[in-house]
Amino acid sequence: VAKGEGRNRFSFFTPALQEAALTRVRLANDLRTALVDNQFRVLYQPIIELATGSIHKAEALIRWQHPKRGLVSPAAFIPIAESSGMIVDIGEWVFQQAAAQVQKWRQTLHPEFQISVNRSPVQFRHDDSGQASWGMQMHALGLPGEALVVEITEGLLLDTNAIVGEQLLALGDAGIKVSLDDFGTGYSSLAYLQKFDIDYIKIDQSFVRHLIPESTDLALCKAIIVMAHALGMQVIAEGVETEQQRSLLAAAGCDYGQGYLFARPISASEFETLVKMS
Ligand code: C2E
Ligand code: MG
Ligand code: MG
Ligand code: MG
Repeated sequence: VAKGEGRNRFSFFTPALQEAALTRVRLANDLRTALVDNQFRVLYQPIIELATGSIHKAEALIRWQHPKRGLVSPAAFIPIAESSGMIVDIGEWVFQQAAAQVQKWRQTLHPEFQISVNRSPVQFRHDDSGQASWGMQMHALGLPGEALVVEITEGLLLDTNAIVGEQLLALGDAGIKVSLDDFGTGYSSLAYLQKFDIDYIKIDQSFVRHLIPESTDLALCKAIIVMAHALGMQVIAEGVETEQQRSLLAAAGCDYGQGYLFARPISASEFETLVKMS
């Protein structure tokens, strides 16, 4: 009977599902050597100050150049890296790239340049007693904490694991800034915005995509901006693709914008050219 049941269950998997599961297993396997084989790159997407057009912030975004599959998007491999725990080492590598980059750009582009790095909840839950903290590594490079912004998602704030709260506090103590990514898509209560020390709110792309005058999305963006400012935070709008979106957000008092209208994620040298031309 058990055997029969097993067969029946197996038959629920369509060939397409089997293929997808296989791809995940293969990617997980390939991920294990990707770091030592130098297959990752970090791209930088500018974050523009809307009132002035100044560029003194960027988000670091990882890319995986797979030897056979070509470019694999983070949406495809970050979840795999998270479930296998490899995100800890990968995230550490991204941080080190970003720290070296911001050290350079503070000297060559803007004295207060900031780079933001995405940090997965898995990285927060990981006991990093063996690793030097990001605050200590910044210090060793002679960088002030505020040169780094750590991007977290709303779900992290609901995590009751004590180590998460401790790590958030440690980041704040080191002067490192915290940004709440994809805001509006999770389910964090507004009380959490006060409970934790958050410096920036990033309005999720889904609220920006259909932004037109007198829309509900515009009302939501305005409400987020007013609330964030009242709590002493600054606001970054994600996914700004059109001039109309930019001008509506600027008029609503949004501090920063990020999106294809300004630039896609680009290499460090392309980034330098962009800033020098702007
Ligand atoms: P995210 O942190 O919300 O990053 C913003 C994503 O939106 C990026 O996708 C960026 O390329 C894309 N984007 C920027 N402007 C526009 C626009 O105007 N229109 C549209 N349609 N998209 C835009 P990307 O680089 O594919 O990264 C996807 C997600 O993967 C990130 O979302 C982040 O959650 C994760 N991720 C990327 N790099 C890292 C990393 O180093 N560590 C961790 N833990 N996660 C990462
Ligand atoms: Mg982000
Ligand atoms: Mg702080
Ligand atoms: Mg986002």
